[in-house]
Amino acid sequence: MTRFRESQTMPLQRSRPAPERRVFCNRTLNLRSIRAIGFDMDYTLVHYDVRAWEARAYAHVQQRLLELGQPVAELVFDADRFARGLILDLERGNVVKANRFGYVTQATHGMRPLPHDEQRRCYSQVWVDLGEPRWVFLNTLFSLSEACLYAQLVDLLDQGALVGAFDYASLYRLVGRTMDAAHLEGRLKAEIIAEPERFVPLDDELPRALLDLQQAGKRLFLATNSEWHYTRAMMSWAFDRFLPKGGWRKLFELVIAQARKPGFFEGEAAVEELLDDAGSSTPVTGLRAGGAYRGGNAQMVQEYFGVAGEDILYVGDHVYADVHVSSSIRRWRTALVLRELEDEVRDEQAFAADAERLRRLMLDKEALEHEQATLRLALQRREHGAPVPDGSAQDPALIHERLRTLRVELDELDGRIAPLARRGSQLGHPHWGPLMRAGNDKSRLARQIERHADVYMSRVSNLLHLTPFGYLRAARGSLPHDSVQAAASDAT
Ligand code: IMP
Ligand code: MG
Repeated sequence: MTRFRESQTMPLQRSRPAPERRVFCNRTLNLRSIRAIGFDMDYTLVHYDVRAWEARAYAHVQQRLLELGQPVAELVFDADRFARGLILDLERGNVVKANRFGYVTQATHGMRPLPHDEQRRCYSQVWVDLGEPRWVFLNTLFSLSEACLYAQLVDLLDQGALVGAFDYASLYRLVGRTMDAAHLEGRLKAEIIAEPERFVPLDDELPRALLDLQQAGKRLFLATNSEWHYTRAMMSWAFDRFLPKGGWRKLFELVIAQARKPGFFEGEAAVEELLDDAGSSTPVTGLRAGGAYRGGNAQMVQEYFGVAGEDILYVGDHVYADVHVSSSIRRWRTALVLRELEDEVRDEQAFAADAERLRRLMLDKEALEHEQATLRLALQRREHGAPVPDGSAQDPALIHERLRTLRVELDELDGRIAPLARRGSQLGHPHWGPLMRAGNDKSRLARQIERHADVYMSRVSNLLHLTPFGYLRAARGSLPHDSVQAAASDAT
């Protein structure tokens, strides 16, 4: 009988990626059934060093405000002050974090953190509804410079230092328009193009991930809001060194610049074919393989590929423009890229043992609180001549004595819980804590992501580990009454 050599019987194994490099799934996604995959560029295929990029965007806006006579010369960009997923409150000049129900769990006024009682006064009767113009959701890492500048200008407005009559909403409009102008006008982007090595960290796994998808028969396209000349410069810088002749263009069947998302997914905008690197263009009615375009719309892309919306996966970083609109209007499948997740998942891993300790301490606290409540009820019942609850002492002196020791035990427990809870609330971001949690609950950002992104991951190259044939299954959703089961197994 022939014996198999060991190598023939050994399954080929891909090493399991580190937890922060996995693809996380909200809604089951079978990559095998996806026929076309679209990619956003900025902060998706091309990642930026947030500190470097946002500092330049901030500086350009600051310069424009100085030219308008605003006293902003002393302001300094603080990349760590705010985070994606926070929400500007244009009525109060605040930045807030909300949980999935829209209940505010943390807030600053301008740059100043709001003490708990002030926060309660502002928000106990208010829920964040992102459909109202009062609230501005920070959808992308591009929002960090805008949020910082807005908060700093709120402080200047409060001090009466700004030139002109503003309220907190019109102040935001000033920041928004000035930011738009800085992004659109050429100088900011020219700086990035001149020194890409300062702004764009390279990811050598990314071209391989896209090649694997392409070679598996997926039809790839790029749809970015960036201008053609900027797209060419960034894509060449990030990809060409890792690819054979022909470079990044060979990866994509279609390239669409200045796509004007989110309108791209809703409207019927006309398209122009780009004829050369300089960007000369001509209006066209259809798309062709290998073409590069300016404008257009998602319907056109879908018709070109001849597939249904659910056969297309779109990968982007902008919570609203890339995943919310494409999924709700076009029914495309969606993947959100959240680079911040890498630090957060790493922090959570490092905290895991303490998180378990905290969970057990909270169970102890719950048990003591329950005993306390039962004894109080026993005293109340005695007072009203009713039968006391099962298991509680009959003698009021004994009940009072036990209540006294319970208070001491609870204080001691709180002393052990507090530092762990504080550390847990600071994971991921030094001021705002985990991106996807608000207190004990999911954050508003987590809610957006679970509603609109089928999957999410820290970077596109995480797809490399998934392979083009991966089948992502959503975990069984958790429900509050699952804890009954958990408590039962804790007790055994
Ligand atoms: P995408 O992520 O590849 O679709 O491209 C994003 C584009 O939007 C980049 O060219 C950015 O410069 C631009 N952008 C980002 N934030 C703003 C803004 O606040 N106003 C105007 N353009 C922006
Ligand atoms: Mg983007």
